[in-house]
Amino acid sequence: MSEQFDCVVIGAGPAGSAAAIDMCRAGLSVLLLDRGEFPRFRIGESFLPRTKAALRRLGLLEKCYALPHARKVGVEISMGDRRFGSRVFKFRDTLGNGEKDAFNMARVHLDAMMVQSAQEAGAVLRTNCAVRSLVASSDEGVTLETDSGTAHARWMIDCSGQASVLGRLRGTRRYHSFLRNVAYFEHFDDVKRPDGDAQGCFGLTVLDEGWFWLIPLDDRRTSIGFVAREGLHTRLDVPPEERLRWAVQRTPIMVERMAKAVGPSSNRVIADFTYRCDPFSGPGFFLVGDAAAFLDPVWSTGLTMGLLSAEQAAQGVIRICAGGSAERERARYQAWASRVVGRAFRLVEGFYSSGFRDLLFAPYQPRELVRGFVTLLAGEFDRVRPSTAVRCLTLGAMCAVQQRIGFAPRRRPYRLRPDGVNARAAVVSSVPGESVA
Ligand SMILES: Cc1cc2nc3c(=O)[nH]c(=O)nc-3n(C[C@H](O)[C@H](O)[C@H](O)COP(=O)(O)OP(=O)(O)OC[C@H]3O[C@@H](n4cnc5c(N)ncnc54)[C@H](O)[C@@H]3O)c2cc1C
Repeated sequence: MSEQFDCVVIGAGPAGSAAAIDMCRAGLSVLLLDRGEFPRFRIGESFLPRTKAALRRLGLLEKCYALPHARKVGVEISMGDRRFGSRVFKFRDTLGNGEKDAFNMARVHLDAMMVQSAQEAGAVLRTNCAVRSLVASSDEGVTLETDSGTAHARWMIDCSGQASVLGRLRGTRRYHSFLRNVAYFEHFDDVKRPDGDAQGCFGLTVLDEGWFWLIPLDDRRTSIGFVAREGLHTRLDVPPEERLRWAVQRTPIMVERMAKAVGPSSNRVIADFTYRCDPFSGPGFFLVGDAAAFLDPVWSTGLTMGLLSAEQAAQGVIRICAGGSAERERARYQAWASRVVGRAFRLVEGFYSSGFRDLLFAPYQPRELVRGFVTLLAGEFDRVRPSTAVRCLTLGAMCAVQQRIGFAPRRRPYRLRPDGVNARAAVVSSVPGESVA
């Protein structure tokens, strides 16, 4: 095979499929390559109101609602031992007129639907077809070696996810200084869901050594994950595939939620190291989604970032193919991505600061500042209004002051290992290990 396209897209995940849809609808010829097959499992199942808006723009929202899903109205945050109760942040409190709710969904459904939609839009899809090397890349054209031969295109968008094909080939991938976590996760039936106000929320349980997610996927199924910080996962004397259960058994709120849970006896594992591959554009290419930057998933920002950057990159390619200046489009995309990725990074880094945690569990939270925070949580990284920016800057300053002088009570996070050493001690009693397992 040796073919010529307007654009070659590496990776047919949500970001690659979204970019392909936009370009095909604008009349471009698109080659969409993926080293795997669909349907396939992927983690990353909780979406933001901004994701919903992006799917609506692509005309895919109704297709999503036809698949198994669970409505998501906000985020419920608790300490592992329930000290300080739960904090519930609802998307209905966001500023502006963005979407006021979102949804969760198993990615096996979402990704298969999106790649099929890309094909329906006209993309030429090749699965089981990995990109092996980059032969040439300039603003005049790109050439790639793939499992099925040589591909030529006017432009290239790398949507290869954490494989970061171009970031690795170009040696631009840089890891975050401290967000080097590992996630242990699985799907379970019959996990207890919160009552009342917190129904339909993404559950986030805060620990000293990391955090848990609880994501209702549909009426019955819940995704449970334990994200361990570097200080724990590098020293823990428990096999990786048993660490979810290990952590659940040591966390009172998880023991309660998982008391009747039914699921597999071991867990899946994935590295969750935050990185960025900057610059996000270069001669003949744009980097999009996780191929550009991966963020710790605490605020479920991944898919939103993927879809927003896919739209920006696709519009850039459309303009280049219509005769626009490649240099200008590269500069525009780089500026946009740096700004948006930077905002999301700051939000994620904030979660891990003690000042933020203290204020999160403070007895009083000013309503207007909370609304600014919830608006960012809703994924509005690309269109931060002045009213949101002012509130978030104030909140950021308060977190910094709290960290230094502690004007609010300090909130020490719940610790999985009270003695800090013996990983096999301190199991919360009466855990039905078989049902968790
Ligand atoms: C533990 C964890 C929890 C997460 N939770 C959330 C969450 O709740 N909400 C959320 O929004 N996000 C979450 N994320 C992030 C989310 O999974 C990603 O942001 C999202 O999948 C990115 O989509 P993408 O299209 O960029 O990449 P992917 O979905 O990873 O797709 C990349 C595609 O590229 C293909 N590919 C790779 N290499 C090659 C190659 N050489 N040639 C051809 N094809 C190739 C792969 O097969 C794959 O299909 C989470 C991530 C982790 C690790």
